[in-house]
Amino acid sequence: MERKPFIAGNWKMNMTAESGAKLIKELAPLVKDADCDVALCVPAILIPAMTEAAKGTNIAIGAENMHWEPKGAYTGEISADMLKEYGVKYVIIGHSERRQYFGETDETVNKRTKAVLAAGMTPIMCIGETLEQREGGITEEVLSKQLGTDLAGVEDVTKVVIAYEPVWAIGTGRTATDEQAQETIAFIRKKIGELFCPKCAEKVIIQYGGSMNAGNCKGLMAQPDIDGGLIGGASLKLDFATIVNYNK
Ligand code: PEP
Repeated sequence: MERKPFIAGNWKMNMTAESGAKLIKELAPLVKDADCDVALCVPAILIPAMTEAAKGTNIAIGAENMHWEPKGAYTGEISADMLKEYGVKYVIIGHSERRQYFGETDETVNKRTKAVLAAGMTPIMCIGETLEQREGGITEEVLSKQLGTDLAGVEDVTKVVIAYEPVWAIGTGRTATDEQAQETIAFIRKKIGELFCPKCAEKVIIQYGGSMNAGNCKGLMAQPDIDGGLIGGASLKLDFATIVNYNK
């Protein structure tokens, strides 16, 4: 089953309109012949300027979060229509930093995921275990619970991109080994097969995220179940192009 690899950056609360546009202009010629889909997910306020900077390139601009309600009294939130107005295709949902610092729960991840799908965009839905959970031997239990709740009521799971991001590997420089990442992502695929159908699970794009960089991307991307990466720190520099060109 052919799954087109997908490499996405997550700028988080870094970059300005000026530094972001400069980076996109430098990245564009370096990634233009990529064999994978490429996106940069950026803070909402940067979306108009980054969309402009990425015009005519193969870099899609994504968002880092979205509210599940279409509109209303939700100070500080961003709606699907606001994102779609700028042609946003991808929205990161349930990043561990949202879960850890901003009260995101599996229930709200589920609402956001369904709202992104209903708006015709692609959620990049993040799941992952903490170090304590991995060391306690409950990684599969944790991921099963996240998948069961986060994907509840989703009609077509093949339209969801899953990012497996072990919390202990995000921004720490400590990457999962190729084998750890492969084994866990194969488990996630199997679980999606049980929750939906095995054929659907074969079509779902599952990224690895957690200190993926220019040095370790080849090994991770060579694993049969790893279809891409969600890249934090390395997406803030030209290393992102090396990751996108992991197969060259
Ligand atoms: C992320 O924020 O999703 C991430 C994987 O960050 P980093 O690559 O910096 O670990």
